[in-house]
Amino acid sequence: MPERDPYEVLGVSRESSPEDIRKAYLKLAHKYHPDKTGGDKAAEEKLKEINGSYDILKNPDKRKQFDQFGHGNSPFGGGGFGGGAPGFEGAFEDVFDMFFGRGGGGGGGGGRRQRGPRAGNDLEYKVPITLREAAFGIKKSIRFARMETCTECSGTGAAAGSRPEVCTACKGSGQTQIARGFFSVTQTCGRCRGTGRTISKPCHRCSGEGRTRIQREIAVDIPAGVDTGIRLRVSGEGEPGENGGPRGDLHIYIEVQQDELFLREGSDILCEVPVSFPKAVLGATIRVPTLTGEADLKVPAGTQSGAILRLRGIGMPDLRGYRQGDELVRIVVEVPTHLTRRQRELMQEFEKENDENDAKAYPLYRRFMDKLKKFQGG
Ligand SMILES: [Zn+2]
Ligand SMILES: [Zn+2]
Repeated sequence: MPERDPYEVLGVSRESSPEDIRKAYLKLAHKYHPDKTGGDKAAEEKLKEINGSYDILKNPDKRKQFDQFGHGNSPFGGGGFGGGAPGFEGAFEDVFDMFFGRGGGGGGGGGRRQRGPRAGNDLEYKVPITLREAAFGIKKSIRFARMETCTECSGTGAAAGSRPEVCTACKGSGQTQIARGFFSVTQTCGRCRGTGRTISKPCHRCSGEGRTRIQREIAVDIPAGVDTGIRLRVSGEGEPGENGGPRGDLHIYIEVQQDELFLREGSDILCEVPVSFPKAVLGATIRVPTLTGEADLKVPAGTQSGAILRLRGIGMPDLRGYRQGDELVRIVVEVPTHLTRRQRELMQEFEKENDENDAKAYPLYRRFMDKLKKFQGG
């Protein structure tokens, strides 16, 4: 299959930012996700192509390589993220795989519908974290319930010293035939519920189910820069497989909670800081909160309410390490609602010296008045 231009596949331009590329990718990955397309073959191919393209464009080196040489000279295969994420728990295979099967090995992909060995169910778990935890990464201990093979009976469901027996109703086939007029209808055996086996002395621990619900606790490294909707996969922490099949995976959905001080906008954070009227007029250095503590911020003389001042490089880190975002401080000038007698006198004094028609001091007012005059036909 000839490889298409990854920019074309994702429908982005060559100048697109990593964030735009990521957004375009997620949109397409959702659209062509097997859950949406019902396992349609063409859609599956399309998704592969989308994944392959994103694999190139999400990586600055690969992207540069492609920009320079196209597909021809690319030394990169189509593989997954590989060992590119040092510091993660060993169980992490791939932090960013959104929907597709295991990168290479693992024997996953589509194996779920096979007879014989069957992979265990995946589990999902939502992990709420604070914005600060998202900024610096955190090792979280998470507890979740999962079904486990019963240790007492090793999953047979039969009490110690006994064994499951072949079902006498269906002779082990799991199905029974019932005559309905001229027809005979095949039904799942009611006695053994289709398993072909019955247990006369059920295991006391699992009541013959062969599985018990256990609470499991694991530590998960949540990398710095995660955002709501990011899914981390911890492989092999799902439910046990059947007939020797592999365990399912545990999918952890990150949910970054709203912060009281900061609003996140991609990798930037926005903080609203009230500044007194005289400080806004005269200029001042103020202390502003940051993700790590506090920082000095110089507010220039004549700063208007709503002005945004930027503290570079102290916003959210990028998951893929492109750039650290900024902190944007929105200045809100607070007019005093209470004055001492002396302050009132000073303000009155000030007002005497004040000329709203001075375009240098009040350009907004002056422009407004000009427009108003025009509007009134003056
Ligand atoms: Zn048991
Ligand atoms: Zn039966």
